[in-house]
Amino acid sequence: MYILMHFTCLLPFVCLLIYTPLMPCPPSTTFVPFSERERERERERERMEKSGTPRVAIIGGGISGLAAAKELRWLEPVLFEATDSIGGVWRHCSFRSTRLQTPRPDYEFSDYQWADRNDPTFPTHSEILEYLHGYATHFDLWRFIELETKVVEIRFVGHGETKTGFTDLWGDKGRPIADGPAWEVGVVTPRSNTVQWCKFEFVVMCIGKYGDVPNLPTFPRGKGPETFLGKVLHSLDYCKLDDEAAKSLMKGKKVVIIGYKKSAIDLAVECAEANHGTDGQPCTMVIRTLHWTVPSYSISGLPFFLFFSTRLSQFLHERPNQGLFRSLACHLLSPLRRGVSRFIESSLTWKLPLEKYGLKPNHPFVEDYASCQMAILPENFFAEADEGRIAFKRSSRWCFWEGGVVLDDNTKLEADVVLLATGFDGKQKLKSVLPEPFRGLIVDSSGVMPLYRGTIHPLIPHMAFVGYVESVSNLHTSELRCKWLGRLLRGHFKLPGTGAMFRQTGAEIDVMKRTTRFYRRHCISTFSINHSDDMCEEMGWSSWRKRSWLAELFSAYNNQDYKEDESQ
Ligand SMILES: Cc1cc2nc3c(=O)[nH]c(=O)nc-3n(C[C@H](O)[C@H](O)[C@H](O)COP(=O)(O)OP(=O)(O)OC[C@H]3O[C@@H](n4cnc5c(N)ncnc54)[C@H](O)[C@@H]3O)c2cc1C
Repeated sequence: MYILMHFTCLLPFVCLLIYTPLMPCPPSTTFVPFSERERERERERERMEKSGTPRVAIIGGGISGLAAAKELRWLEPVLFEATDSIGGVWRHCSFRSTRLQTPRPDYEFSDYQWADRNDPTFPTHSEILEYLHGYATHFDLWRFIELETKVVEIRFVGHGETKTGFTDLWGDKGRPIADGPAWEVGVVTPRSNTVQWCKFEFVVMCIGKYGDVPNLPTFPRGKGPETFLGKVLHSLDYCKLDDEAAKSLMKGKKVVIIGYKKSAIDLAVECAEANHGTDGQPCTMVIRTLHWTVPSYSISGLPFFLFFSTRLSQFLHERPNQGLFRSLACHLLSPLRRGVSRFIESSLTWKLPLEKYGLKPNHPFVEDYASCQMAILPENFFAEADEGRIAFKRSSRWCFWEGGVVLDDNTKLEADVVLLATGFDGKQKLKSVLPEPFRGLIVDSSGVMPLYRGTIHPLIPHMAFVGYVESVSNLHTSELRCKWLGRLLRGHFKLPGTGAMFRQTGAEIDVMKRTTRFYRRHCISTFSINHSDDMCEEMGWSSWRKRSWLAELFSAYNNQDYKEDESQ
């Protein structure tokens, strides 16, 4: 069924497979070394090529790329990182006040603990960076990392074993790692302004869903930012300001913030803090879609994990391919599921002044949870609103006028600065480096990436994607997928055929669509344990990872449950 649905998309792909051997190589198809260290690496690559060791590229040095480098270190991968530092969003997409939203033990590699893991405060972005640097040093990952090396283009050069047709790309006949070069990766560095190419048998894409490519609103002519006499910045530009510049951008200025997700909320608090004092101005948030926000990781004194992160709590929720009995149980349990969501909604409405400020969403809490959109509120958010330093306006559409922004009811808001916390376009980021026809296959008709086990696109051979499915802790989600990928590349198990992979991804997407209207974020948080169980089974691990039945039912699952067991 899925193959049929994708038939039209596949035609160019089949053509590519037929014509690939005829494609001329670019003039500079070998990697040109540009420093002594890189020359050494190039010699190493040549040695590996001669010895038949497959060459693996990892693109991106955030948590996903680091986890991939650690799990694939037996393949001596090359990790290309565009910027001058590892850490991804924690380095390049964070404000002064950005903190992790999950407790430390939930955002922790299975084999590298936080030094202060019992500290109940949420770590700042600099603490997270320090932790990630510690991880890279502990596992000697720096030797794989090429900083300031941006991948600008990727070409498919594979053929050989895939020439029998796309159904054999993966699965029994296709092998995850190509027999010869499958991809050519073009990189640029500050030291060289020409694109330099190197070949790989396998590529892992870890370039992140957030950061780099802003999601910018579009406007009719004459109603866009060109009309506005003040300053317009996307949150990505704001991240680049130092503390002093950020403060002076907002101090004593009329600031409008577009958006109501985590970045918008953090920005509003920074704006309010910059406007303490007599010349302070209120900052106005313009909100299209409301989301539930929570003040801390507990609801009415009960730890948050009890509601969604235990086997028992996830038993209430639909999961892919669940069979007749579980479907019936899920149907019968739906009042309980709604009850849990309503309990959280009432608790939040009671605790926070959501009704006072018109901030109570109309959709159930579970829909935000199931789309990974639940934001943790900074402690002083409503205190600043109570002092009049943060104001709220609802508007489904808006545009600029010379003095600020106009809302859908024609209200004119005056502004000196408009900050766009309108998110990022991670899929566009991927599309900008991938070649056709793969670029066109990235998302399916529902706008979601069909990734088997959140990692493998059934129609993109010899490539994996890490960091594209989300859950409560993305570090856990990415690390487990890297462990799974490592075992796949070692040949511990095989991928099913393309059709079976599409059936699995289709079933997951259907569950997400039935659970939340915001399904395009590709979040698996209501069935994350089931997702991990399936991966464990494929890896030959036991899927029930706790010491007792009680713990299985009532305690949360996190990375510590997926530690390597030498016997496995
Ligand atoms: C403000 C903010 C707060 C967040 N808070 C949480 C949280 O509390 N809990 C949680 O679980 N998740 C949170 N997230 C989600 C977060 O994105 C993930 O937790 C995680 O850090 C993503 O890691 P990643 O490695 O997949 O991607 P990224 O961190 O985005 O890393 C991608 C890396 O790839 C590099 N890159 C991009 N393009 C190229 C290229 N062409 N060539 C070479 N390198 C390239 C980038 O420079 C970057 O270093 C937050 C995200 C943001 C933006």
